[in-house]
Amino acid sequence: MLFDQETLDKLIALRRELHRHPEISGHEKETSERITTFIKQYDPDKIINNLGGYGIAAIYNGEETGPTVLIRCELDGLPITETGNLPYQSIHQGKGHLCGHDGHMTMVVGLATLLHRTRPTKGRVILLFQPAEENGAGAKAVINDPSFDSIKPDYAFSLHNLPGLVLHKVGIKDGSFNCASQGLWVTLEGKTSHASHPEDGISPAAAMCDLVTAFSRLPTNPEFTNDFALVTVVHANLGEEAFGITPGFAKIMVTLRSETDNIMSLLQEKSEKLIRDIAQKHTLKASYGYEDIFAASTNAPEATQILKTAFQDENIVSDEMIAPMRWSEDFGQFGNISNSAMFTLGSGIDQPQLHNPDYDFPDELIETGTKIFHRVVRSVLGPSN
Ligand SMILES: [Zn+2]
Ligand SMILES: [Zn+2]
Repeated sequence: MLFDQETLDKLIALRRELHRHPEISGHEKETSERITTFIKQYDPDKIINNLGGYGIAAIYNGEETGPTVLIRCELDGLPITETGNLPYQSIHQGKGHLCGHDGHMTMVVGLATLLHRTRPTKGRVILLFQPAEENGAGAKAVINDPSFDSIKPDYAFSLHNLPGLVLHKVGIKDGSFNCASQGLWVTLEGKTSHASHPEDGISPAAAMCDLVTAFSRLPTNPEFTNDFALVTVVHANLGEEAFGITPGFAKIMVTLRSETDNIMSLLQEKSEKLIRDIAQKHTLKASYGYEDIFAASTNAPEATQILKTAFQDENIVSDEMIAPMRWSEDFGQFGNISNSAMFTLGSGIDQPQLHNPDYDFPDELIETGTKIFHRVVRSVLGPSN
């Protein structure tokens, strides 16, 4: 057994405590305090707080000099009301840990309990509790924080639990691992008029319909046939809820998704051309902008191999993924500054999907996740057994 019973009980209690008190992206103050207090019991050599927001880095040094290995998990919950009747259900109305970040944090805390017992032979381990993953802002904020300069990693690893994949089984892939995605909002401005005289105004109704259709068809353009690209219309709003007014305003929101950052640039370019062309045709004023920007997450060959070897050493059943995950991850940012890779860890075939209101992280995974991270750390920094 990786943990003694007392430690395992403490970890499960921590996971459920985190689950009860979810905080959304950028507001993870209490979560950050809870983790800091808990992890101090395991004497890290240094703790850096307020990294890129409420981020925490707990550092364990080896005896000799060597590389820096960063293990990353996420602090944030979601603005979704949890359903079901868990004894440790969220006490914050409208907020829930429905992506399993409570479990991811606990696995990384589990690693602290092991590093406390046996430090690495060389180099150092950074346990990073990253804020604001769900809105794509956190990884960048952490990396750009001046305090991060002193802990810049050579290697970075992370995992995400995955419903629909057999419990304890892992998924891994070289190269692109998570898609790039961006939220694109568009406003169309015309002129309101009395509903009895639409000819006196400029209604964006037809242009809005044209745009919604054109956006959805965009990925079928020949430029995108060889690579995965997807445009999802997520919101559309036209005029006021008033029978007396011809609308003068419309807003459309779409999510752009692609396998690579290059394809994302092309999607953006084509989307912007659509907006301009359609607005011009209907004599409307158009504005647009981007939010929730996630770069594609790419697994580096060396880091991927370290993970694969760790799975073998720990007898973890592993699946080679054919396509990258469609959802995005801001962990991709760490790939720009280090040799990084991430993997998925099965949270069970019948598990509700991520962001479902009845999702809950399976506690049995805590040990599996910690075990893999521990093996990864030891394979790079020792000790080897
Ligand atoms: Zn999520
Ligand atoms: Zn997540």
